[in-house]
Amino acid sequence: MDKALAQFINEMKQTIRDPKRMLLDQADRASYAYDASFGFYLPDVVIQPTASDEVAEIMKLANRYQVPVYPRGQGTSLSGGPLPVKGGVVLDFSRWDTTLEIDPEDMLAIVSPGVLTAAIDQAAREYGLMYPPDPSSAHVSTIGGNLAENAGGPKGLKYGVTKDYVLGLEVVTPEGAIIRTGGRTVKNVTGYDLTKLIVGSEGTLGIITEAILKLVPRPPATQTLMALFADMVDSGRAISKVLTAGIVPAKMELMDQASIAAVEAYEPRGLPLDVDALLLIELDGHPAAIAEEIVKVERLCKEVGAREVKVAANEVEAAELWRARKLVSPAIVRMKPTKISEDATVPRSQIPAMFQRLKAIKEKYRIDLVVFGHAGDGNLHPNIIADVRNQEEMERVEQAVAELFAAAVELGGTLSGEHGIGTMKAPFMEMELGEAGLDMMKRIKASWDPNHILNPGKIFPEPGQKLVLRHD
Ligand SMILES: Cc1cc2nc3c(=O)[nH]c(=O)nc-3n(C[C@H](O)[C@H](O)[C@H](O)COP(=O)(O)OP(=O)(O)OC[C@H]3O[C@@H](n4cnc5c(N)ncnc54)[C@H](O)[C@@H]3O)c2cc1C
Repeated sequence: MDKALAQFINEMKQTIRDPKRMLLDQADRASYAYDASFGFYLPDVVIQPTASDEVAEIMKLANRYQVPVYPRGQGTSLSGGPLPVKGGVVLDFSRWDTTLEIDPEDMLAIVSPGVLTAAIDQAAREYGLMYPPDPSSAHVSTIGGNLAENAGGPKGLKYGVTKDYVLGLEVVTPEGAIIRTGGRTVKNVTGYDLTKLIVGSEGTLGIITEAILKLVPRPPATQTLMALFADMVDSGRAISKVLTAGIVPAKMELMDQASIAAVEAYEPRGLPLDVDALLLIELDGHPAAIAEEIVKVERLCKEVGAREVKVAANEVEAAELWRARKLVSPAIVRMKPTKISEDATVPRSQIPAMFQRLKAIKEKYRIDLVVFGHAGDGNLHPNIIADVRNQEEMERVEQAVAELFAAAVELGGTLSGEHGIGTMKAPFMEMELGEAGLDMMKRIKASWDPNHILNPGKIFPEPGQKLVLRHD
């Protein structure tokens, strides 16, 4: 351990209120060395803060001793976001879940960073309100991590993503100042919108220690449909057809043949195996409006080639269908042990074109490609299933991933719709942003964090860095 780090740890021992919240044993630190992506990076120390002033002190000391600091929620990041790639400190916020207040009159929630996302919607439900952002990991990921990644989910189609529900934040800056951005009002145009800058900054510009979140009225009814397609490209057309007809479902999720087959092998749900793709559609709103929309959606899907459209008879049947969609992730890792989960996103009009490109990439690189995800907003999840021990296969996978990113950008889309850049997509940033665009982002980072203390090694490509999906 170098001298500066040892001095930092010594001073931290005097600063931290509860010494049990500072972990130095190798076995404890190893639990913080990975996330849901690739790589293993052991931190030198883990601290579990539960107060803003404590975080501010940590950041001041980290600047004095030039020790890197990595904020972490539950470590479910798929892009390497919380990994301590340069060693130093991991700040574990998963323990800090003390505040979860609902204010029904102002229709907002005030939350600590370690509150699980699903708990916010659950608490809002008691007041007839809803917190719409619903990443599939909502039951296991923290609101701090969701804010840092600007997480989205199936309901993003109608309701938007995390950033659309943030009214204000308390943030500890990389140099250790405590600031507030935004507030409790729906409208706020005082100065630059620092709230929006911090949301999605992947823990590189500030540490979120509290958030004020907007809630909306809970829709009185929902209804689920399943549309079956003999050709996945037609399912892409169905999405455009429904949306351009003026119907905005709450969710429009796609499962391709490979993901249907994987789910049926994992936990049989009675899904049809002889289709190329299916769409799960949830309509919400007033029951009379939903009844009209069901008829229209059925007709529109059939017009573009749906073989059949089934309407869930009741809530139990609807829940069964959505469970099938949730099972895709665990089911596909049964095929092979390594899952490369991408979230390249294209404009809705380009969904059929993206499906064509994905088919071509699958054939060209002979990879096991499974496509599912939030197709209604263009946020597909092409997942490549491979075996990390097979180096030849992993090389083909790396080429396929690079081509997949290029396809999304060429079609007017983006490298990431919700999982963030982290370490995984950093080498591709310039491809989407251009040199000047990337430089502006680097300048923002330098002005907030002049000593590059907070989450270094993320978002920005490092010299000579290339996509590496192996654990080497
Ligand atoms: C099975 C599965 C399904 C998933 N589905 C979705 C999905 O549908 N949609 C989606 O968007 N994502 C999804 N994800 C990805 C992941 O769950 C999200 O990125 C989530 O927001 C991460 O939250 P976390 O608490 O695990 O944060 P971590 O993974 O611990 O950290 C994520 C990032 O947030 C930063 N961070 C954490 N806390 C703070 C804080 N308090 N202040 C500042 N920065 C902080 C970290 O430094 C890191 O950069 C999924 C992951 C899995 C494993």
